[in-house]
Amino acid sequence: MGTRKRIYIGLLLGSLLILTAIAFLLWYLISQRNLVISQIILVFITALAVLILAGLGMGIMAIVVMIWRSRSIPSLETLIHRAHELLFPLALFTGSLVGIPREKVIRSYIAVNNYLVSVKNLYLRGEQVMILVPHCLQNSECPHKITMDVVNCKSCGKCSIGDLKKMAEQYHAVLKVATGGTLARKFLLDYRPSGVVAVACERDLSLGIQDMGFIPVMGVLNCRPNGPCVNTGVSLQEVENALRSICKGGRN
Ligand code: SF4
Repeated sequence: MGTRKRIYIGLLLGSLLILTAIAFLLWYLISQRNLVISQIILVFITALAVLILAGLGMGIMAIVVMIWRSRSIPSLETLIHRAHELLFPLALFTGSLVGIPREKVIRSYIAVNNYLVSVKNLYLRGEQVMILVPHCLQNSECPHKITMDVVNCKSCGKCSIGDLKKMAEQYHAVLKVATGGTLARKFLLDYRPSGVVAVACERDLSLGIQDMGFIPVMGVLNCRPNGPCVNTGVSLQEVENALRSICKGGRN
């Protein structure tokens, strides 16, 4: 397990420990009250808390086992999904407590997510895959309306959209340029891809991956040489590697 992935896994475990400690403290405080009503509620709450904590613990264990064995366990995917969903915000908080920058935690989360997607050994046809990129990749002075249809890009070479368009054609994948989460969700609803290669900044990518639920998403971080949200870039090699890990066309 690489260092990058270890950060997030460690923080997931730390978050679970914090939750367990809080649950124990609450249980202790309530049990000290010794009220008749509280005894009934206490049993119910304790059972519920144990169930949730055990489920989250199993979710984390499943992530570790899948990374360790480099193999997917489809029956545990729901547990893993819930563990990410519930513990991700807490992992960010735990990271801040121990001085790990938020962006570093998110990069680690994306590394874990990408690894878990890659071990699924998906063998999707290009047409089933969507490459979803942010509008800020387009050169800010470009007059062409590529969010409507990326075919409008003239491949002038001033930004990476032209190369991404070429790559999408090569893999027969669908390339979509979104101005934000709403348009991205619309594209997903319209095309219903079986797999997504998403390009974005740390925040948008982590939100997007969780938003897409059970659709496998390979996340690729953009680079921001001009600051956030304007004339950003992306490594074409990383996008192609992500495509190759879920797409049949890349394995010929
Ligand atoms: S590559 Fe396409 S999107 Fe980028 S500036 Fe040129 S025409 Fe516009």
